[in-house]
Amino acid sequence: MQSRRRFLFSSAASLAALAAAARWRPLSTAQAAQPVAGKPAESFEVTHTDQQWRQLLSPAQYDVLRQEGTERPYTSPLNDEHRKGTFGCAGCRLDLFAARTKFDSHTGWPSFYAPLDHAVVTREDGSFGMTRTEVHCRRCGGHLGHVFDDGPQPTGLRYCMNGLAMNFTPAAA
Ligand SMILES: [Zn+2]
Repeated sequence: MQSRRRFLFSSAASLAALAAAARWRPLSTAQAAQPVAGKPAESFEVTHTDQQWRQLLSPAQYDVLRQEGTERPYTSPLNDEHRKGTFGCAGCRLDLFAARTKFDSHTGWPSFYAPLDHAVVTREDGSFGMTRTEVHCRRCGGHLGHVFDDGPQPTGLRYCMNGLAMNFTPAAA
């Protein structure tokens, strides 16, 4: 009886897991289909194989830049970077943001109200059941973060970036 009950319990648990998986499947299929739905896949000036990216980047950088991961808030040393200078792509070194456009968004991620010209490209991202605008590097396609419309003037935009996706270069004194 004991083992029968355990069996019933475990199969109920498996059924619940299957049901959960089934609920998620349509969403992830929609996510996978999304980048192709709107426009043809982008091509980038800087390209590497997945294996090369793994060698070029730290595992944490790889997770953000190549897997669209998100670093934990308040973990990036770049949150506290207030010098004059430029934030560049950690994947290809393209300059992305000038320090003068950085502001404290109190989100725990480095935030900017505007990127440099020809630095980033955006696309709609439907993951996690919300529609957000994903931001990636124009030159290598590395995922940087998202942009929201609740930023300060003059643009009203908030580029919410992963510090792991960027390197800071101080301005020459
Ligand atoms: Zn890049």
